[in-house]
Formats: sequence, C-alpha cells, structure tokens
Amino acid sequence: AVPQRIVASSEVERSYIMIKPDGVQRGLVGEIISRFEKKGFLLKGLKLFQCPKDLAQEHYKDLKDKPFFPKLIDYITSGPVVCMAWEGAGVVASARKLIGATNPLQAEPGTIRGDLAVQTGRNVVHGSDSPDNGKREIELWFKEGELCQWESVQAPWLIE
Ligand code: UDP
Ligand code: MG
Repeated sequence: AVPQRIVASSEVERSYIMIKPDGVQRGLVGEIISRFEKKGFLLKGLKLFQCPKDLAQEHYKDLKDKPFFPKLIDYITSGPVVCMAWEGAGVVASARKLIGATNPLQAEPGTIRGDLAVQTGRNVVHGSDSPDNGKREIELWFKEGELCQWESVQAPWLIE
C-alpha cells in the first residue's frame, strides 16, 4: 500500500502561482504548468479566471505606491489568468527559482521568464515570495472548496 502522509494543511507549504494574461494569450499555459508538474510539486487548485480590478489591487497592495501600479492592474485584468495552488516542502523558494528574475532579460535561461519573456511588464507568471504570502494569496484567489485534497501516485518516488 502507498504510505499516506498525514499532514495538516496548515503545516504544508503552498505557493500561489498565476499565469498572467500574456501567458494565456501566447498559448503558454501548458508549457508553464508542465514545468511545475515535472519538478514534482503537487497541484491542489487550478482555474481560468477573469480577475476583477479590486482583487488585482488587493493582490498587489504592497506595490500600490509604485509608479507602475496602474499599468500593472490594467495588465493583470486585461484577460483571463490561470490561478494555481502548488504544494510541497520548499515550493515557494523553488517556484521563484523556476520562474526566474522579475526582469525577463535578467532571468537565467532555463527559467520560465528567462526562456519565454522579454519585459518586466509582460513577464508571464507570478509566484508568491514567502510561505505566509503563499497562504494569503491562495485564500485571496480561491474560494472554500476549490482546492482538492489528493495524493499523487508519484509521491513515494519523489519523497523518500
Ligand atoms: N512590475 C512592473 N514594473 C516594475 C516592477 C514590477 O511592471 O518595475 C510588475 C511585474 O509584472 C512584476 C509585478 O509588477 O512581476 C510584481 O512585482 P514584484 O517586484 O513583486 O516582482 P515578482 O515578485 O513578480 O518577480
Ligand atoms: Mg512579487
């Protein structure tokens, strides 16, 4: 039998990963999801979603005084995004590495932004910057019941 790892969800690290409207428009949804899947994190929530302005403003509230804030809100609400909750020990920092630097021209080749984007204002994907923000953002973007409780059959082959 597959051993069941019983872990209260509050102890499990989660990152909120979002494919931004440019990633959706450019047909990069499969490519981006695939990178997190192949790495070995567990997908707990996934939806295509048209983000309202107030939610975008709340999500990026720490940046509200930056000069680029209005353009950022226009960008994030300009078309559907793909909202994801990914789970696993170390997922927040690891996802940031997979995503690469904020400016895609500075992002290393092999990262999502390094391979697939050229401008900070069109950098195709978001990833939470701390486990606390991972929790906050997943609660902000997903409603009760939208996350799935499941175990991957790969778990014993990923975690010893
Ligand atoms: N952003 C921008 N211009 C800037 C800095 C940031 O348009 O000079 C946008 C960009 O889409 C970035 C988002 O604001 O991804 C959030 O900025 P943050 O510094 O949190 O970067 P991230 O965590 O996404 O790498
Ligand atoms: Mg950030």
